[in-house]
Amino acid sequence: MNKLVVISGPSGVGKGTIAKALIERNKDMALSISCTTRAPRIGEKNGREYFFIPKEEFKEKIANNGFLEYSEHFENYYGTPKDFVLEKLKEKTVILEIDVNGGLKVKENMPEAVLIMILPPSLEEVRNRLIKRNTESLEKIEKRMQRIEFELGKKEQYDYSVVNDKLQVAIEEVENIIKK
Ligand code: ADP
Ligand code: 5GP
Repeated sequence: MNKLVVISGPSGVGKGTIAKALIERNKDMALSISCTTRAPRIGEKNGREYFFIPKEEFKEKIANNGFLEYSEHFENYYGTPKDFVLEKLKEKTVILEIDVNGGLKVKENMPEAVLIMILPPSLEEVRNRLIKRNTESLEKIEKRMQRIEFELGKKEQYDYSVVNDKLQVAIEEVENIIKK
């Protein structure tokens, strides 16, 4: 049976890196593509990292019940397109890389979903990774840092948590959870 897997955790913890590695190693796994109203970063492509859509279109999709869940943070909307995920689930295990509120909403709608929280080895390490990634201003990085405590506070409501210290170890841990 194909599974619906949610990977959450603070911005910069390594969710994207782990999720990409998983789909490269496992041909029976696919990443869901979320909709967002934020602008693409350099190197991001519409329909690959996200479907980048205007706020009006996002609100229309909310009104038409087109999202499995959505949330607003960092002044933008992010949502999981329902049709897209249900279609993909027919063929593969689908990984959602979404924030904790979104993950818990997915679990409400689809209790069979497996929720995995990725934890940083330390808060300082998250800041270092965000600075190294070089995709956000220092001000935006601090905003993301302020949200971390909130995200980590929901750990107990997740099915599993995995510390991303050594990347290879974390990838294998997440893979084992999904496959078991
Ligand atoms: P997220 O998707 O959670 O925001 P990313 O996957 O973009 O985070 O990772 C943030 C940065 O940290 C990236 O530059 C990535 O290469 C790096 N990174 C990810 N995992 C590790 C790790 N285990 N050790 C060191 N750097 C890492
Ligand atoms: P970023 O702007 O760094 O790509 O993502 C910011 C945050 O939005 C991350 O915590 C990411 O997990 C979350 N996110 C991405 N897609 C979705 C989604 O579809 N729904 C929800 N709720 N959060 C999302």
